[in-house]
Amino acid sequence: MKDKPGVIQRSLFGGESLPGQGTLFGDPNSAADQAVGRCVEQEMLLEHMGPTVEEPCRDLQEGLFHQGREKPFHEVREDIHHDVESELPAQDRLAEIDNLVVLRQTVLECRRCGLRQGARGAVFGEGNPAADIMFVGEGPGQREDELGRPFVGRAGQLLDLMLRSHGFSREEVFIANIVKCRPPGNRLPAPQEVEACLPNLEAQIRIIRPKIIVTLGALASQTLIDPGLRVTRDRGKWFQKDGVSYLTTFHPAAVLRDERNKKRLIWEDFASLRQKYTRLYGGKDTD
Ligand code: SF4
Repeated sequence: MKDKPGVIQRSLFGGESLPGQGTLFGDPNSAADQAVGRCVEQEMLLEHMGPTVEEPCRDLQEGLFHQGREKPFHEVREDIHHDVESELPAQDRLAEIDNLVVLRQTVLECRRCGLRQGARGAVFGEGNPAADIMFVGEGPGQREDELGRPFVGRAGQLLDLMLRSHGFSREEVFIANIVKCRPPGNRLPAPQEVEACLPNLEAQIRIIRPKIIVTLGALASQTLIDPGLRVTRDRGKWFQKDGVSYLTTFHPAAVLRDERNKKRLIWEDFASLRQKYTRLYGGKDTD
């Protein structure tokens, strides 16, 4: 019997958060953590006032991605691209690696950005090394950092539920993140950190050769698909790039924070994924 979303999600999503309770994120003296708190609190307020979260998400991106710079995210990335390239150690030749075992070892030894210092280790990602479908999130959280596995906390439980409910198993897909080491306080990775780690993910994609990549949240979507993409506006849309079909949807953690507005939408996006995969590549349709 198929899972029923309403029944399962009520037990999974937990209690309701109230405005004012979402402002405590990581270090209270950190401007970045305060920006996260502001954004979440605004999301919660808007949950009571209306469905749009465009404005608070812009505040979050400006507070964290841009970090005071007066440039859009993609221009910041271009600015720092040369710096990062010039800092790559000579022995780091990701482009020459052609299997996930060697790549995993290389990533576990990576020290290309400062995130490694605050993390227990790199979380490489896991799943089928020949997966047709790849899921990409932002970065490891506390539980992922502890266990060295991606999406194993509450957001991971939701992802597992979405997969199972749409006829996929966690073992048949591959799950990874934009950055492999946990950002302190669960803040969003900074542009320099994204730029430093992106070659690791690009090597994973090159070796796995997925047919479909599902980007979970704004950072993954803007990094892999289009810097101008807005998840609240563009979720559920399909994009074609370099022979790969991309689907953008919410990060499961965002759904957990805003069940009322996002639960049904992410469910629709996974249904779209199931339908496209079945139509293009065969297999049973769960509808
Ligand atoms: S986050 Fe990525 S680039 Fe930075 S140290 Fe970890 S694996 Fe290396």
